[in-house]
Amino acid sequence: MKLIDIIINNAEKGILITSYCSSCKIHIWPPNHYCKSCSKKTGFRKINRKGVLLEKSFSNLPDLIGNYGVGEFSGIRMIGSVDPSILPDDRISISQVGIKDNKLNLEFSKIKIKRLK
Ligand SMILES: [Zn+2]
Repeated sequence: MKLIDIIINNAEKGILITSYCSSCKIHIWPPNHYCKSCSKKTGFRKINRKGVLLEKSFSNLPDLIGNYGVGEFSGIRMIGSVDPSILPDDRISISQVGIKDNKLNLEFSKIKIKRLK
């Protein structure tokens, strides 16, 4: 079974994982059987669903019209759909994990910061 199929199977259950090097303690995306830094075999690990939005842009591709953002989670960068109100540097979470055309389809939401009264 291919790495991406294992990741997709988990994503279908709402679990977001990717390759992980336990020597370097880094998540690897796109997934790879071997760590690019130390060449050791990788395992799997969950991705922390809280991160930061790095970039946002509008897609005009017919299948993907809308706002998309690049978020950083667990040190890796992933693309997801975003609400127009989200801005770069906002703290975000991966609120939806789904599959579309056998690819990961993520949705990011802004994390609302609770203010102390
Ligand atoms: Zn490594």
